[in-house]
Amino acid sequence: MTFEDFDLNAGTVRALARRGIQTPTPIQAAALPAALAGRDVLGLARTGTGKTLAFALPIAARLEPASARGRLPRALVLAPTRELALQVARELAQVAPHLVGVTVYGGTGYQAQARALSAGADYVVATPGRARDYQKQGVLRLDAAAIVVLDEADEMLKAGFEEDVEALLGATAPGRQTLMFSATLPVWARRLARRHLKDPVVANVLKDEAVAYREEVYRVPRDREEALSRLLFAKDPERSIVFVRTKVEAARLADRLASLGHPARAVHGDLGQRDRERVLQAFRQGRTRHLVATDVAARGLDVPEVDLVVHYQLPDQPEAYQHRSGRTARAGRSGTVAIFAGGGEAGRVRRIEAAVGRRFARAELPGDEAARTARLRRLVEAARAQPEARKAQVRAIAEAWIKAGDVETLAGLLAERLLPEEPESLPTRRPGRRRVGRR
Ligand code: AMP
Repeated sequence: MTFEDFDLNAGTVRALARRGIQTPTPIQAAALPAALAGRDVLGLARTGTGKTLAFALPIAARLEPASARGRLPRALVLAPTRELALQVARELAQVAPHLVGVTVYGGTGYQAQARALSAGADYVVATPGRARDYQKQGVLRLDAAAIVVLDEADEMLKAGFEEDVEALLGATAPGRQTLMFSATLPVWARRLARRHLKDPVVANVLKDEAVAYREEVYRVPRDREEALSRLLFAKDPERSIVFVRTKVEAARLADRLASLGHPARAVHGDLGQRDRERVLQAFRQGRTRHLVATDVAARGLDVPEVDLVVHYQLPDQPEAYQHRSGRTARAGRSGTVAIFAGGGEAGRVRRIEAAVGRRFARAELPGDEAARTARLRRLVEAARAQPEARKAQVRAIAEAWIKAGDVETLAGLLAERLLPEEPESLPTRRPGRRRVGRR
């Protein structure tokens, strides 16, 4: 596919070619046909994917040159930051030399930008706050805006521009074309799209964006701790990070994992700098294999490559999902992301899937047998790795058992290491003594 396949004039295509732009990027290929035909588009793409041209070319192609002084803008592009607004303005100036644009943003005097608006423009590129100020003053009139672009809608939300964006949209003509781009779809962005886009073509290139990790959703029972233990035994990761929501949960889960035979420690906001460093050191050296962390504690954590990330509890925001998951499969390595979801959480998982533009695999928790086999494998490895001197201390005992054919005792020893502990509440458990070998 080339730019000649689109409904663009030959001059535009040649101008792009002179800049080395010949083959459309995926978001351009997905969005341009509809956008050039005047349809609304919801484009899901990140920065750097070529999305600017996906809306700049339609503006260039669809607006005729005009010259009347004081003419009202026929296109409005909203961008979250001054830098992005300037970048977009530069791109528009290149592809639409027949049009006059004005760029407005905050953090600078009102006079010059207001004068430029009053002189008349074909399009306006603006940050929402300043655009709204001018619109309230009557300096920026949007009655003639036939094309409205929302660039990086999710970032506009983060910057607190919701109300400004909605007020500006409300001031434009109802028959307009709306092109909305976003890298994620938080609730507000989704609602905005539903309210303000008419039968949009969804151009989603996020879903084709390969992530190097495999994402698996586990439908977990009420007892998540036991489910996690089984998963850790079965996956047997060199290093993993388990994400929870609260400090209390982090500490509790780490203790519980340790009692189930997993070398796990917690990192959370209440740890002092020294303790935190000590835990991380153990994790780097492989003595601690599982870190149980809160999102806050994990931020800025300098940890080595992990091969498993567990969303023990679902993150509140898709952004948190990406931050957590991005801890694995870095630097060309592979990794697994396990998502725990309880019975009532299927909808929340689907919302994360929609936000990141991928569908996760549904996986089965390993059964008791699979977990036990994995655990046995680890135990045998650890046993073989014992130093000769240590083995020598107990060799006589082992030889005596073998000689006597005492399989019972060996089985008991393995049960002690391999099977879950008896629950506290069982009356058969005698105080002070560990019962082993249930089943
Ligand atoms: P954007 O994501 O719109 O900021 O674009 C990122 C960079 O890619 C910009 O420098 C564009 O000039 C460039 N670019 C956009 N589309 C193409 C294309 N089809 N081929 C080559 N470069 C492109």
